[in-house]
Amino acid sequence: DDNTVTPEMIDDLSRQSFPPCMRELHERLRANHKLFHGGRQQYGLFLKAVGMSLDNAIIFWREEFTKVMDNDKFHKQYLYNIRHNYGQEGKRASYSAMPCSKILMSGSNDSGCPFKHYDRDHLGKMLSAHGIDKTGSSEIFELTERSQPQLACQKYWELVHRTPFEGAMQHPNQYYEESRKTFG
Ligand code: SF4
Repeated sequence: DDNTVTPEMIDDLSRQSFPPCMRELHERLRANHKLFHGGRQQYGLFLKAVGMSLDNAIIFWREEFTKVMDNDKFHKQYLYNIRHNYGQEGKRASYSAMPCSKILMSGSNDSGCPFKHYDRDHLGKMLSAHGIDKTGSSEIFELTERSQPQLACQKYWELVHRTPFEGAMQHPNQYYEESRKTFG
């Protein structure tokens, strides 16, 4: 179906429609070919929710991880976890993607929310790399400095999409869905 997201689509999709928390993880994965556990969970469950199948997820993660380890190590140390996220191991539960509230509470190593866990300098660099101008950046800083990361994210979404965001930002997959509606 047309909700299927394949590994080749991710680079473009991440630039166009991923919230900064996920785009940052994606770019870190492409640059370092690995992520810490928290980042793998945060990003892996998000990708599952945007429509990446288990088979495609294995191809996607394997492609990066086997740049820094052999296939055998990937199988032994990481495959279980990917399958587990899809309910194919352990309790066979269906795990859902993390809402903003949960991501805002984490933020260890490479996971978390840039609007909460980055300092001003780091956030400023990210915003300018994403094409947000000075005026837009100061509007965002005003909100992060009042500890309003989700409002800052909503403002970011509006600057990127040049249209008002409907509702309140509560979930990275909500960010994504609204973005696809706008660009689609
Ligand atoms: Fe991600 Fe939510 Fe933070 Fe936006 S507010 S970057 S969707 S965690």
